[in-house]
Amino acid sequence: MLKLPVSEIFSSIQGEGPYVGVRQLFLRLPKCNLTCPYCDTETKIPKQFRVEKVPGTRIFSKIDNALPLDKLLDLLLTYDFSIHHSLSVTGGEPLLWADELLVLLPFIKENGLKIYLETNGTLPDQLLQLLSLVDVVSMDIKLPFDSKNFWDVHETFLRYSNQKEVFVKIVVHQDTPLKDLQYARDLIARVDPSILTILQPVTPSQGILTPKPKQLLEWQSLLLEKLINVRVIPQTHVFIGQL
Ligand code: SF4
Repeated sequence: MLKLPVSEIFSSIQGEGPYVGVRQLFLRLPKCNLTCPYCDTETKIPKQFRVEKVPGTRIFSKIDNALPLDKLLDLLLTYDFSIHHSLSVTGGEPLLWADELLVLLPFIKENGLKIYLETNGTLPDQLLQLLSLVDVVSMDIKLPFDSKNFWDVHETFLRYSNQKEVFVKIVVHQDTPLKDLQYARDLIARVDPSILTILQPVTPSQGILTPKPKQLLEWQSLLLEKLINVRVIPQTHVFIGQL
């Protein structure tokens, strides 16, 4: 039986992007292939992961990693799927666990929950493995200023994702270079100018500052020169103390 290490499991609201406010069950998986300077997530594999069995109580059970997939499914099924829009498979970078997810996700869908994949958009081969199981792809575009140059791999990833419902999220801060945003805009426009694109002002941390009001409006205008649907949406869950 395959095992999957987990970071945490909880039920909450989606705080980012166009699905902000919908109820989701979150399966956060450890490890990431990137090291973004504004990362707010612990990506190492913990010896034990935490589960908030009663949503909103902040009372967590600890469970040893890694969990056999049948036990993980049993754990997820203790939540009431009927009140959740989808299972948010997030991380870290969840596509690092594509082999395990390929086994787990069909059972989630059989039990009536959609799959919402939150990904950094850099592992297109692994996405292809899972694409038939995924309902919504929330894909980050990582800008070279904050990471490495992923333009080619992002474009391939976005073309694959565009076979499903997809939106793109770009985290921006005061030092985000205009040329990176121009390149991201052109990349998305080449694939499909109607793809919803979210500019997400960074939640300030570690000296990284949220963009000034004028910057955000100028950047949105810049993207709207070639894209049809560009929105500015911050991380909302942090305002109201949600996980
Ligand atoms: S891709 Fe996401 S999880 Fe990975 S380092 Fe960047 S912000 Fe953190």
